[in-house]
Amino acid sequence: MRLYETSETGSIEIEIGEDLQARHEELAQRNREWLIAAMVERLSPKHGIGVIAGDVATTHDAERVAGKGARKVLQINTGGMCHLDAKLVHRALQHLPESGLDIVFIENVGNLICPSFFSLGAEARVAVVSASEGSHVIAKHPAMFQSADLVVLNKTDIADAVGVDLSSPVSELQALRPGLTVVKTNCMTGDGVDDVLRALRLA
Ligand code: ZN
Repeated sequence: MRLYETSETGSIEIEIGEDLQARHEELAQRNREWLIAAMVERLSPKHGIGVIAGDVATTHDAERVAGKGARKVLQINTGGMCHLDAKLVHRALQHLPESGLDIVFIENVGNLICPSFFSLGAEARVAVVSASEGSHVIAKHPAMFQSADLVVLNKTDIADAVGVDLSSPVSELQALRPGLTVVKTNCMTGDGVDDVLRALRLA
C-alpha cells in the first residue's frame, strides 16, 4: 500500500471580509479535493484506492471521490486540530479494508504551516497551490515547500486570466529546493493531472 499526502493553503494574508475569507477557504479545499478526485478517477480502473480526508469535509465531498471509483473514503474528525499526525493516520488506516487497496491518498488539513512539521509516513508529500497566488504563498511558507516532494500549481486558467506569469513561482520553488518537481494543472478540465501521476510514479 502506498500513501500520498496533499496539503494546501486555506488562508490568504491580506485583510478581506469574513465572507470572502470563508469563500476562499472553501475554494482552496475544493481545489485540493478536485485534484484527489481527478487522480482517483484515472487510477481506480486499475488500482484499489483509499482516501483519508482529514479536513473538515462534507459527505458531499466524500461522495464525489467515491463516485470516481475510490474503494473506501474515510473522513477523520481532527477535533479542531490544525494538522494530521502519524497517530491519527495510523488509527484511520486500521479502518481501511485489509486487502484490495494499492494506494491511499491522505488529504491533510488545509494550512501550509504545521503540516510540514509532522511526518505522516506517506511515500510522497504533495503541496497544492493556486497558481494565481503562487509567489505570495511560497514566500510565506518556505518550510512546506522544502518538505514537499511535489508542488502542484493548480488553476492555471485563472493565472492566465489575471495575467500572472507562472515562471516566477516555478523559479522561486526551485531556488528554495533545487530539483523540486513542479507540475501545473487545471483540475477542472483535468489538464496536467497525468503529469502529477507520472511525477508520483503512479502512471
Ligand atoms: Zn497544526
